[in-house]
Amino acid sequence: MTGLDLLGAQQRNLFIGGTWREAASGARIEVIDPADGSVLTDVADASTEEAVEALDAAVAAQADWARTPPRERGEILRRAFELLTARADDVAHLMSLEMGKPVAEAKGEVAYGSEFFRWYSEEAVRIHGRWMQAPAGGSRLLTVRKPVGPCLFITPWNFPLAMGTRKIGPAIAAGCTMVVKPASQTPLTMLALAAILEEVGLPAGVLNVVTTSSTGELSTALQSDDRLRKVSFTGSTAVGRTLVAQSADQLQRLSMELGGNAPFLVFEDADLDAAVEGAMVAKMRNMGEACTSANRFLVHASVATEFGERLGQRMGGLRLGRGQDEGVDVGPLIDEKALDGVTRLVADAIDDGARVVTGGSAPDGPGFFYSPTVLVDVPPGSAINTQEIFGPVAPITTFETEAEAIERANATEYGLASYVYTRDLARTIRLAESLDFGMVGVNTGLVSNPAAPFGGMKASGFGREGGFEGIEEYLETTYVALPAD
Ligand code: NAP
Repeated sequence: MTGLDLLGAQQRNLFIGGTWREAASGARIEVIDPADGSVLTDVADASTEEAVEALDAAVAAQADWARTPPRERGEILRRAFELLTARADDVAHLMSLEMGKPVAEAKGEVAYGSEFFRWYSEEAVRIHGRWMQAPAGGSRLLTVRKPVGPCLFITPWNFPLAMGTRKIGPAIAAGCTMVVKPASQTPLTMLALAAILEEVGLPAGVLNVVTTSSTGELSTALQSDDRLRKVSFTGSTAVGRTLVAQSADQLQRLSMELGGNAPFLVFEDADLDAAVEGAMVAKMRNMGEACTSANRFLVHASVATEFGERLGQRMGGLRLGRGQDEGVDVGPLIDEKALDGVTRLVADAIDDGARVVTGGSAPDGPGFFYSPTVLVDVPPGSAINTQEIFGPVAPITTFETEAEAIERANATEYGLASYVYTRDLARTIRLAESLDFGMVGVNTGLVSNPAAPFGGMKASGFGREGGFEGIEEYLETTYVALPAD
């Protein structure tokens, strides 16, 4: 079994209250193969009424689910981790088809994404409050942790599995029910995940999946409903701002994982072999279509030429192609709009004076491919340094002093990931304390880890996913005052 066969025809539909069903209107959304623009299959296109029915199902399941013993919730997650791991090859193939990333990378995402289920299967049984004596004596303070209630999860297309499991895992562990709306471009992986959770015994109504082309209407309708208590969103800052504004009337709890503009700092004392290796990971993971992707390379002037040439050699040696083909390193971008955006940013940078070390263009079609590109002499103010590239392009600028590097790194509205290459411990500590980012990778190009608190600040959003912190997003606290006698 590979790829599309993983989903039966019935499962390319809405999953509401434990039942798979077509949209009442019969409307469908086409899923496109980004490697050639052909139609892979289609999924149901839900109406707003059907989205509200999914919330009805989540609300109906909430009380029983909250009462389900934590061990039972944890064991469902554990079984889901095991089944997902057993089906990793098929899920990865399916993900590669709809999203474009090479199958090997998709397998990496399945391994990463499934770990959120394992981690939160272990955290489900560790939810606890506290008991203490009031400082002045005379009373006791007790806290009770409770699930926040029905949630809405909206996920992006770039990590179709992991962006879901890092919300679904802690929500299940905490005892919340949910409606999930995956990105319209990559709904299949989420539907396959729902089928796995159904198979391992997640009770009906705890997880509901709604695919729709009326995304704005769905979020407006569900967020105006006082039964929805929480929204967790991963995607662009623009949509995040809309969802934050829409949460005001019902004062929903929010987690916002938004865009990034990660600086990648290489100091004069850095191990250049390690820096080039780390740059390949930080830049090329997911074809550069990651919110953590290194977006601005800030390299000390004394090592910039060597770093640029070596990175250019590595990037220029990568093989583009269909993600399911053997030996492919770089798949297509998600769609034509994404390809046009990357093409425009590179053209503007060249107009601004940047020099191309490798790449700099899109190969002939079909598909939405862009050649891995390294640019040097990029003016700091060029649009490619201020906007999220979301493609396989590494723009390099130089700096002279540590103070200048920090100032330039922080000169962005975003604050998600940052990367630092240096062998100086004191400098490492200064940078970790001075960089206004939720994550700092030191001599590594990969910060994501299910046991770590992933998240940003400023326009990159708020809230943390993963780690001990991740479950807090799904818990409320009731404080109980107890007299001592
Ligand atoms: P996007 O346009 O914001 O879409 C993300 C999700 O939001 C999709 O499911 C989309 O649905 C939905 N959406 C769009 N408009 C909506 C509305 N008015 N109300 C409710 N939902 C709405 O972003 P994208 O282009 O898919 O993803 C790329 C962005 O995500 C980048 O900026 C990237 O940095 C960010 N990202 C952040 C993280 C993180 O953890 N911080 C991780 C991955 C990606 P449709 O598909 O139906 O339009």
